[in-house]
Amino acid sequence: MSSQSYKEFNNKLIDWFRLYKREMPWRGITDPYRIWVSEVMLQQTQVKKVVGYYENFMKRFPDIQTLASSSVQDVLKVWEGLGYYARARNLHKAAQQVVKDCNSQISDDYNTFRKLPGIGDYSAAAVMSIAFNQPYAAVDGNIKRVLSRLFLMDNPVNDSSSSKVFQEQADLLLDRNEPGCFNQAMMELGATVCRPQSPACVVCPVNAYCKAYKEGLQNEYPFRTQTKKIPEYNIAAGIIYKDSDVLIVQRPLEGLLGGLWEFPNGNLNKGETSEEACIRHILQSTNLSISNLNYLTQVKHAYTHFKIIVHTFECEYTQGDLLLNGPIDAKWIKIAELDKYPLPKATHKIIDKLTL
Ligand code: SF4
Repeated sequence: MSSQSYKEFNNKLIDWFRLYKREMPWRGITDPYRIWVSEVMLQQTQVKKVVGYYENFMKRFPDIQTLASSSVQDVLKVWEGLGYYARARNLHKAAQQVVKDCNSQISDDYNTFRKLPGIGDYSAAAVMSIAFNQPYAAVDGNIKRVLSRLFLMDNPVNDSSSSKVFQEQADLLLDRNEPGCFNQAMMELGATVCRPQSPACVVCPVNAYCKAYKEGLQNEYPFRTQTKKIPEYNIAAGIIYKDSDVLIVQRPLEGLLGGLWEFPNGNLNKGETSEEACIRHILQSTNLSISNLNYLTQVKHAYTHFKIIVHTFECEYTQGDLLLNGPIDAKWIKIAELDKYPLPKATHKIIDKLTL
């Protein structure tokens, strides 16, 4: 495309965005805190799911000081169900850094902001461009798909070695007068028109500039490298009753579902039954012995890189004092109190099967 065509492309895209953009609670504002929160929530999550979470989050943590002074447990509770919990822990940690080191002011310097926990190239570019009108092109999966079709790019979108070339193409295309509007327009185009399946090319505001459309190849792009089959793991979990209380344990703060609470559980060893695994794992991780196991249910859950089947037993505490090996905390609580703790989706699925 010539520089004149880039200009025309940007005008068409931005005019279309102004006319047809979906209303969202984080649109039309320049408050960097609110834009930051929305961009973190939108990573790997669909807009319609994010809206409710964003509004609750803003009610509970209306400014960066409130977020920084809250406990990570409170933040995880509000985030519960949105997934990818490292995002919430990093946001909390970053807010504390901004309050402590920068007098609660979110920096308008790309490199300073980029160094905060959880901030990658995409988030930094999105926040800097939307909140501070700075000329950084944001490139996420949606935008890669649009670029790939516009310019017939053969680089696989799911291979990190392609990131540089997509970023360079986005930098070339970026509207430097209205970078925030341009980035949001590209995201909106990818989400509503240049969709993964059946792109709506006939009504696309930039179809005159699209190589894939011209060649009738829009369904052949983007390219992806073959991914491996997702593994599936069997896990045994125990709901241990002691009088009218049950035991929940807290996962370590770092790693998958970090800081969330769950019923004690662990992987099945080869040749082991789920009942044997449940008894063994509870003894190993909590030092408690259990008896009278009754099979309650099995629940399935899929994460990005693997799936789990959780074979769940109700059982009774027999003996032992709590001594944790793996979990960082444990509590005996009433079932009605489970609601107060941030829990993974799989644990919610188990609770749904309990006859309360
Ligand atoms: Fe995507 Fe079709 Fe628009 Fe090209 S013309 S950018 S393939 S929606």
